[in-house]
Amino acid sequence: MLKGKNVIVTGAAKGIGKAIALAFAREGCNIVLNYHSHVDEEVIREIEACEVTCKPVQGDVSDFSFVSDMIKEVKNELGSIDVLVNNAGITKDMLLMRMTEEQFDDVINTNLKGTFNMIRHVSGVMLKQKSGAIINMASVVGINGNIGQTNYAASKAGIIGLTKSTAKELASRGITCNAIAPGFVETDMTAVLKENVQEAILSAIPLKRAGKVDDIARAAVFLAKNDYITGQVLNVDGGMVM
Ligand code: NAP
Repeated sequence: MLKGKNVIVTGAAKGIGKAIALAFAREGCNIVLNYHSHVDEEVIREIEACEVTCKPVQGDVSDFSFVSDMIKEVKNELGSIDVLVNNAGITKDMLLMRMTEEQFDDVINTNLKGTFNMIRHVSGVMLKQKSGAIINMASVVGINGNIGQTNYAASKAGIIGLTKSTAKELASRGITCNAIAPGFVETDMTAVLKENVQEAILSAIPLKRAGKVDDIARAAVFLAKNDYITGQVLNVDGGMVM
C-alpha cells in the first residue's frame, strides 16, 4: 500500500527520525531525508539497500525560505509528496525562572515553527494531489507538562493544536494529519538526562521499559497506512499517559 510513495522525514539523520525513514524505506517508499548538521553515509546506504531512492537534503526546518525551496525541489524531482513526517526537534531545558528568551525562542522555532513551515509548503502539493498523510512528532510532555520544559511542552502542545487544525482544514481533500506523542525513548535526546532522572521516568512507565525508536517508527507507518484516522494524538509511551 505504501510501496512507491514519496516520504519526507525531517531531522532524520539519527534517533527516531532515522528509524522512521528506515521503516518507510522497508515498506518500499522513496525517502527525502532532511538533516541538520550531519548525516552518516551509512544511513543513506542502509535506506538505499531497501531498493528505494534516498535524497538527502541539508537544512534548518525553522527557516521558512529553506523549507519553501526544499519542497519545490522535491516536487520537481519526485513529482508527488505522499507522506510528511515532522520529526525534527530539540530540547533546551531550564527552570522557568532561569529560562532565557533565546532558549524559549530556539525550541519554539525548531519544534513548532519548523512543523508549521513544513506543513505550510507541503500542503499546496498535497491539496493538488487530493491525497497525503502528515505525521507530527508531539510528546507526552505536550499533554502533561514537565518541570524544566516550559519551552518544549509549549512547543509540543502547540504541535497538537496545529495537528488538529490542519486535520480539519485539509480533510475535505483526502489529507490526514495526526500526531504521535512518544513517552521516554532511548535516543541522544534522553541520554543527556541524569541517571536518577532516567530512573524516575522509567519507574513511572506501566510497561516497565523505555521506548525504542522502532516503537515510534511502527506507529508512523501505521498512521500513514490508515486514511480513516485524522486529527488524533497517538500516545506511544508504554502507558505513561492514560
Ligand atoms: P535526537 O536524537 O536528538 O534527534 C533529533 C534530530 O532532529 C537530529 O537529527 C537533529 O539534527 C534534528 N534537528 C534538530 N534541529 C533541527 C532543525 N532546525 N532542522 C532540521 N533538523 C533538526 O532526538 P529524538 O529523540 O530522535 O527526537 C525526535 C523527535 O521525537 C523530536 O521531535 C522529539 O521532540 C520527539 N520526542 C522524543 C522523545 C524521546 O524520548 N526521545 C520523546 C517525545 C518526543 P542535528 O543533531 O544535526 O541538529
